[in-house]
Amino acid sequence: MKQHAGGRVLAEDSGAFIGMRRGSADSDMSDADFAGMTPMMAQYARIKAANPGCLLFYRMGDFFELFFDDAIEASQALGIQLTKRGKHKGDDIPMCGVPVVRSDEYLQKLIACGFRVAICEQLEDPAAAKKRGAKSVVERGVIRLVTPGTITEETLLDAAANNYLTALAPLAGSDAEAGFALATVDISTGDCMIGCCDHADLAGELTRLSPREVLIADELSGDKELRAIVSYCGAAMTPLPEAHFDARSGEAALKQELGVAALDAYGTFPKAELSAAGALLKYIEITQIGQKPVLCPPRRLGGGDYLLIDASTRANLELTRAQSGGKQGSLLSAIDRTVTGAGSRELAARLSSPLTSPDAIKARLDAVAFLKDRQMLRAQMRETLKGMPDIARALSRLSLDRGGPRDLGGIRDGLQCAADIAELLARPLAADGAPQDIDRISARIMGKFGGLRGKLSAALADELPHLKRDGGFIRQGFSADLDENRQLRDDSRTMIAKMQARYAGETGVKGLKVKHNNILGYFIETTAANAPALQKPPLSETFRHRQTLANQVRFTTEELAGAEAKITGAADRALAIEQEIFGQLRSEALGCERELMACSLALAELDATCALAELAEEQNYCRPQVDDSKAFAIEGGRHPVVEQALAKMRSGPFIANNCDLSRDRLWLVTGPNMAGKSTFLRQNALIAILAQIGSFVSASSAHIGVADRLFSRVGASDDLARGRSTFMVEMVETAAILNQATDRSLVILDEIGRGTATFDGLSIAWATVEHLHDISQCRALFATHYHELTAMAEKLGAALNVTVSVKEWKDNIVFLHEVIPGAADRSYGIQVAKLAGLPKPVIARARQVLARLEKTQGRPNAEVLEDLPLFAAMAPAEPGEGEPDDSARLEELAEAIGEIDPDNMSPREALEALYRLKALS
Ligand code: ATP
Repeated sequence: MKQHAGGRVLAEDSGAFIGMRRGSADSDMSDADFAGMTPMMAQYARIKAANPGCLLFYRMGDFFELFFDDAIEASQALGIQLTKRGKHKGDDIPMCGVPVVRSDEYLQKLIACGFRVAICEQLEDPAAAKKRGAKSVVERGVIRLVTPGTITEETLLDAAANNYLTALAPLAGSDAEAGFALATVDISTGDCMIGCCDHADLAGELTRLSPREVLIADELSGDKELRAIVSYCGAAMTPLPEAHFDARSGEAALKQELGVAALDAYGTFPKAELSAAGALLKYIEITQIGQKPVLCPPRRLGGGDYLLIDASTRANLELTRAQSGGKQGSLLSAIDRTVTGAGSRELAARLSSPLTSPDAIKARLDAVAFLKDRQMLRAQMRETLKGMPDIARALSRLSLDRGGPRDLGGIRDGLQCAADIAELLARPLAADGAPQDIDRISARIMGKFGGLRGKLSAALADELPHLKRDGGFIRQGFSADLDENRQLRDDSRTMIAKMQARYAGETGVKGLKVKHNNILGYFIETTAANAPALQKPPLSETFRHRQTLANQVRFTTEELAGAEAKITGAADRALAIEQEIFGQLRSEALGCERELMACSLALAELDATCALAELAEEQNYCRPQVDDSKAFAIEGGRHPVVEQALAKMRSGPFIANNCDLSRDRLWLVTGPNMAGKSTFLRQNALIAILAQIGSFVSASSAHIGVADRLFSRVGASDDLARGRSTFMVEMVETAAILNQATDRSLVILDEIGRGTATFDGLSIAWATVEHLHDISQCRALFATHYHELTAMAEKLGAALNVTVSVKEWKDNIVFLHEVIPGAADRSYGIQVAKLAGLPKPVIARARQVLARLEKTQGRPNAEVLEDLPLFAAMAPAEPGEGEPDDSARLEELAEAIGEIDPDNMSPREALEALYRLKALS
């Protein structure tokens, strides 16, 4: 006997299984393999073979069981005990299992580990199978394949993130270089998008959507570049047969899904887009086994509507995820003030896809401004929204026949919230009029739901169970038939309690109990010692023996059997009525699926807009002026994430800085290490993004001409998986910028050319600046420690030198973080290294070397090197115990020597220098 997950103890038996492996080998079973197996094992083997590549959750009673390699892999992934069940060809058959009631929890872990799971259910009551014969097998079948991109359960989903499934089809047959069509859906909300992108933009598009699963044709699954892109954006890749990517069936499926005879109303769809849509819908059909999710009409992707941001820029700027991988530290986490999961998803979607149309941006800004100015209304709406259930996800589960009473309750409560919000909005809208976005939102919230809210409120109980199967969710008074059967059931239960008291009195057996179990139904139980009294006349005429256990004996009576029939009949009938009402309510809810989806989306938009208004007020953000110009004029700009982090740590204020690229469109930013160059670069990119999502921005004023693309190359990282060194990654990213940036783009470049030899790096940086200035003509911020580059500003008409100021004080530097016109001539790297805690001898030595290098314009010749004492010779030993620590004094001395420039000193200055050295020695 072995312990199972969930604490069950299994009896071993000797079922005969056939050996099988997961993956493609699963389907290689021949008829001979089934020979000699018990009927149940043959059923398992057949179902397993029909679902290759999936772990099979095989329902047996209250457990899902896994066998053979599935069991080994799942037990390792889940950390549950591997047991055995009988033998096959002389070997033990590995087995493990998870309780059905906790299966979501285990599914979540398996999906996170990259598994797909086929859920095989019992399709009939085991009692029905028994009627066919003692050995007949319960009918079973796979009801659903659970994959990362097709989950809908609340417990498996992140409330604040979309769960997209994307199909990719090459634009030109099997030529991936020509670009891709993408069809994307979140079946947990119905959100659907179709569009195309260039090959070079694929990684950016996929990171924007951030799908959990990507579908591609089999023949592309070997494409290394594609695999790397899919894995970079954290998605699972699922190859499908080429035949699934068929444009004609795609078109037919899409028409059927949308219930239209022609797709014209939704735009024109190139062949590749229809192929991708076809594969997507086919995959949903395969995994959902005939159940149809609710799908919103597809939105068009691309076409210049969104600011294009490539994958590395998204990662560098930490828009929705920080470099560490989590949300914490990202721009999203700094600005997210939403109070609902759907609102948070909407905000994340806006942040991933900033707009390019000034009108659309202005519409959003008007809505934010409207709510910012109405603090009281905003507070009331946010309070109401806090209790708002996720209507879209509840509706999606109901449409897939996976929903329970709580999903209907979610729609009821959601509609109540919507009505409350509509009421809150009514007065200000009537009094002041409202911006178009608020008007649109308000109209959708008050959609035509045909009395659905009233019906759900009347029908559903206040407290709702998770599952519909046990009943108990319909309100008393809603159905007379249901109430009557419930009454009968409950009365009979009281009758049984009374019967127990009467039997105890009549038999004189005080401990006599009437109990119930699934096998015997109701029975009378006494201890073995008391049983003989009931087995002798006259009592034996009433009490019929049913079962003897070690310490108890069980009986029944005619009266008890009759009562049981009544109870079961009434309970079964009550349950059937509840299921019927559930079905009716479900159909009514699905009858207004479009209106409910629109209402849910409108409430999400309202939450996101309220959140941006809240943020603007709380963080003192300003409304940006956004238009078609090429302006970029920020006054008092702050980094939205660093500013909040500094405030949280109480480490002083963030120093605001101006940036005006409207005339001098390329700024060369120099300054000491740690001065704030990267922060300045990033904050301006983030301000542009905030403006283009229609948010107020972290500045005192901002005028931004919309950018078409945003590029950032910041920091160093390698990409060993794709065979790229740090410098190679830097150059690939720089190449992408130089090839794609237009005069409408915004580019931030931090330290180009640092990963190679000084002169190589300097030359590359030089040429890059010239290209950006002369050819791309984009707005750009270019930070560098190559001070030589600052000379270019004089030559390039639209370039300007700025520097981040510091103050020197004694031997230290104080960071002022102020961006001012001018160029830095040094980086103060050694001072910063000292701050970082480099050993003092190393600092002293570095100063010495620096002094020599400066003397020879960075080219150490033999003479100079000879002049330089060996490190060991000059490095002071660590002071012994009790000895004074001379290192600081020596360091100062070395620095003073380093500062001496004998060739440019008057005799008097030389003498003074000597005195100074003597004083220090
Ligand atoms: P390096 O050249 O060494 O990469 P850097 O000049 O790019 O340095 P940053 O990394 O931008 O410097 O900034 C260093 C730190 O200074 C930041 O982590 C931040 O805490 C602080 N800082 C930067 N800018 C400001 C500012 N404007 N106000 C306050 N603190 C700032």
